[in-house]
This record gives sequence, structure tokens and C-alpha cells, in this order.
Amino acid sequence: MNPKPKKYFGQHFLIDAHIISRIVQAINPKPGEVIVEIGPGPGALTAPLLLKHAHLHVVEIDRDLAAALVSRYPPEQLTVHETDVLNFDFSPLNDGGKFRAVGNLPYNISTPFLFHLAGFAAQLTDAVFMLQKEVVDRMVAGPDDDAYGRLSVMLQYQFALEALFDVPPEAFNPPPKVMSAIVRLQPLGADRPRAKNDSHFANVVAQAFGQRRKMLRNTLKSMISEAGFEALGIAPTARAETLSVAEFIAIADATSDR
Ligand code: SAM
Repeated sequence: MNPKPKKYFGQHFLIDAHIISRIVQAINPKPGEVIVEIGPGPGALTAPLLLKHAHLHVVEIDRDLAAALVSRYPPEQLTVHETDVLNFDFSPLNDGGKFRAVGNLPYNISTPFLFHLAGFAAQLTDAVFMLQKEVVDRMVAGPDDDAYGRLSVMLQYQFALEALFDVPPEAFNPPPKVMSAIVRLQPLGADRPRAKNDSHFANVVAQAFGQRRKMLRNTLKSMISEAGFEALGIAPTARAETLSVAEFIAIADATSDR
């Protein structure tokens, strides 16, 4: 299959056999796992994965590429979901059971997609994705790193994250303008530190990072007083970019009934 890449679907197709084999090794499919690949495109990852795994689900928005995959593989091997992954309901994949997610993601939807997938974290065993390196840096960054922000906190609230390796532009056709990287996400266990109210936690994080260089006593003024910060052992003069996930949870819990 040698289709012309479509820019509006973020199509950059992997052509480097060594990188493809490293990604497949990182995924390391095991018998019996339910695996869904996001954005299979012409199948650079799909084909080697199917050599190691009896069946895959794939989610592809491009009608032509989805049709080509349907004609190339029998349904016992490949279930093709031709749809926008941002609207895809992962829960029926394994009758509500666990699944793994993999893929070389379209970079134009990577952040909304990660937030969408986070809604299915309870069913997810793990995920291995290729993303823009800049996004992977933000995902794994800790407090005080330049890249630390809302994405880091919201994902680290639910997942253990590990940057695996970088992938240069020449590994793709056409080459993207940026470096890429492979990242693994593993949902934290049920005993992870958790806010009393997840959506309030998300609001606190969004509001604090809305103006990341401002002090918390300004950005969160409508929610918590200076004395309130001090009671939590957090300096009111601190900035969002210095707070740990645990400190965001503490602020959310102290303000969730207000
Ligand atoms: N996996 C292939 C590879 O590595 O060569 C293709 C990767 S390409 C970066 C991203 C793929 O995601 C394309 O096939 C594109 O059509 C598909 N895609 C883009 N937006 C999508 C969306 N919203 N939902 C599902 N698939 C999407």
C-alpha cells in the first residue's frame, strides 16, 4: 500500500524498519490481549503487530485507508473501526474488560485524544504511543521543569508515564517538522492518591495553569484564602509550575465543598 499522505489527517507514515521494530518490541503483544491501534494508516505497525498477535482492533478516520485495511485482512485478524477516535467508545472493545492501546498518533489531535483516553483508564492495561517529542516532554515533566503544566498534572494524576526513545523526522514520509518520541502510559492502581471530586480537581489545575507565571494567591483567589494555603503548607506566593500532583489534590480537597 503506498497512498499519498493527507496533511489534514496528520498523516506521516513510518518508513524506517528499525524504528518500526523497536516500537513493536516496546509494545510486546502477548497472547489473549485485546489491542487497539489508533491511526493504522497504511499499516506500518499493523502488519508487524499482526505477525505477533492473532487479532487487532484499529481506529482509522480516513475512509480510503480503512477500506484498504478491510480488503487486506480478514475480520478474524483485523476489526476496522472507521471513525474519529475522539468520538470512539473504547468500553465495548473487550465487553468492558481490559484493553491495550497503541499507535503512531496524528499530532494535531494528541492532547484531546489523551484526555479522551483518560476517561477509559479503568479498562486500560497500558498504552504505547508515538507523539511529538514536545508533547511527550510535557507529559513526563515534573514540578519546576519548563515543560511541566496542565497536561503533566492531569495525566500524572491517573498514569505512570515513561518516555522510551526519540524518533527523528527522517523515519517518516513525509518527514514532520518536529522530533517525535515514544511514550508508555500505565494507569495507576485503584489505591492512587485521588481527589474527592475529579472534576473540581481538573478545574483547580486548569485555573492555576491558566496564568502559570502568576502566584497561586492570585490565580486561585476565588477558591482559597492565603490562610487556607498556609493551612495546607503551601506558600500562597508559589506558582502552579512548582506544585506537585499531591499538592493540587490537597488544594482541590480543601476547596471542593465551597
Ligand atoms: N500508523 C501509521 C504509520 O505509523 O505509518 C500512520 C500514522 S499517521 C501519523 C496518523 C494516522 O491517524 C493516519 O492514518 C490518519 O489518517 C489517522 N487519523 C488522523 N486523525 C484521526 C482521527 N481523528 N481518528 C482516527 N484516526 C485518525
